[in-house]
Amino acid sequence: MNSNEGIVNLETDYLVIGAGAAGMAFVDEVLSRCKTSTFVISDQLARPGGHWNHAYPFVTLHQGSYFYGVNSEVLERDPREIDLSSKHEMLAYYDKVMRKFLASGRVTFLPQTSYQWREDGDEDHVVKSIILSGVTYHVTVRKKFVNACAQQIKVPSTHVPSYQIDKDVRENCVPINELGSLKRSYEEFVVIGNGKTGIDAVLYLLNQGVSPSSIRWVVSRELWWYDRKWFGPSSAQDFIIEIIRVLGEEDDTGAIFRRLEDKGILMRMQDDPDAEDPKLFRCATITKAERDAVQNIKEFVRLGHVTRITRDRIVFGDRGSIPTTANTLHVDCTANGLPRQARKPIFGDDTITLQPVLSCNVTWSSAIIGMLEVLEGNNEDAKRSIIKTAPHPEAKEDWVAAFYVTFQNLVALSKKYRRQGFDGMRLSIMNHGPMLSTLYKEHFVLPKILDKMLAKAEIFLNKYDSPSA
Ligand SMILES: Cc1cc2nc3c(=O)[nH]c(=O)nc-3n(C[C@H](O)[C@H](O)[C@H](O)COP(=O)(O)OP(=O)(O)OC[C@H]3O[C@@H](n4cnc5c(N)ncnc54)[C@H](O)[C@@H]3O)c2cc1C
Repeated sequence: MNSNEGIVNLETDYLVIGAGAAGMAFVDEVLSRCKTSTFVISDQLARPGGHWNHAYPFVTLHQGSYFYGVNSEVLERDPREIDLSSKHEMLAYYDKVMRKFLASGRVTFLPQTSYQWREDGDEDHVVKSIILSGVTYHVTVRKKFVNACAQQIKVPSTHVPSYQIDKDVRENCVPINELGSLKRSYEEFVVIGNGKTGIDAVLYLLNQGVSPSSIRWVVSRELWWYDRKWFGPSSAQDFIIEIIRVLGEEDDTGAIFRRLEDKGILMRMQDDPDAEDPKLFRCATITKAERDAVQNIKEFVRLGHVTRITRDRIVFGDRGSIPTTANTLHVDCTANGLPRQARKPIFGDDTITLQPVLSCNVTWSSAIIGMLEVLEGNNEDAKRSIIKTAPHPEAKEDWVAAFYVTFQNLVALSKKYRRQGFDGMRLSIMNHGPMLSTLYKEHFVLPKILDKMLAKAEIFLNKYDSPSA
């Protein structure tokens, strides 16, 4: 490193932008597998952990700690359980992992710095200090530039609601983050937004002893929900096998979702048998008990999206309005945590863009990308041919496309790398039992169904990639 009037020149093998879950899992894997590689990690935040730094105080993982984080460090308290790490456990974990990185002597962390995205023709990689005016890092990259912030995670505290809030009601409208630090009590709560954050807000209020009759929940569009019991160390195998069977045997998306519902893998919030099937799926995961607990609240408001909150009305465009009062707290939960993204190539010539290669799984995916980067060295064609980017689901058709890609990738990885540490990765949801390669042999029907299923993948992927076609 040398510096000249605020310019610091650095040289590294990998320049990684983002010390969130994706960047940390990638660096961990490359650092462990290649004993000489060096890294510069830049993040706009002061600490590693990405969006967990901004998350609401009572947030937890929604799937399971035993397959989250980085490969080289345990996060779970009990590997036999689906324990859900809290925000604070997550931040302590990423601090510990970063300290381990720094102790290797091969990682330089630049907190509170911002990467300057390059214009065409720019040669340099430039990272600017946010806190020190005039301090700029010019980074020479020997191997790869790694974009570890491509997922564009949105959390309520950094999100501006799309509805109008009248001036005289603003102090009664808060993001979910503020529920944990209220200055006064309210007679009634209206939770706006019905993804995982929305149900977390409702459950938090119920757990604090708020009467169900004081809670209304604005449910703008119905979602499918995963039942968390399938994400346990002893149930994940069955989860994978059931999905392969259903995707292999059914072509129609509606039928796929109804069969998964019959098996108890998916749930809907609304019990009404005459209601339309939900159209959306965002990987939100809850237990049946949580779903049942929210059924007793005063009202599910199904009038579409809120467009305005006034002193005495919550307005839903031309679909109507409901009354509100000065004693009502409106809790915003409308940030779409992981928005739909166009799929980009993962391996460019001198760039890696971290994206999921397994449905809704950022950490295992990023470690897999790191594994390929080391094992395949300069053979970019091999890396590109083995894994593809999995869509991030919003519509239920996207989920089907995401699972096709997930299985394509798992089959290719299992065949080629099972003896090189792919089987048994801590981050694998199947790390407590036989991997796909073994399942393949044990369940003799599986290969046939899987082949049939994979033959349909392109149809769904084309729909995801060209939604308007
Ligand atoms: C509430 C919640 C619960 C979740 N639970 C689970 C779960 O149980 N299991 C699971 O598998 N997944 C879960 N997820 C999803 C998963 O955790 C996230 O998708 C993942 O953490 C995203 O990590 P990331 O590194 O891609 O993004 P981020 O966490 O957003 O990190 C990106 C980082 O890049 C930095 N950055 C951006 N631009 C720049 C720049 N120009 N220069 C420098 N730095 C920059 C940002 O400051 C940020 O720190 C959950 C997500 C949420 C929101």
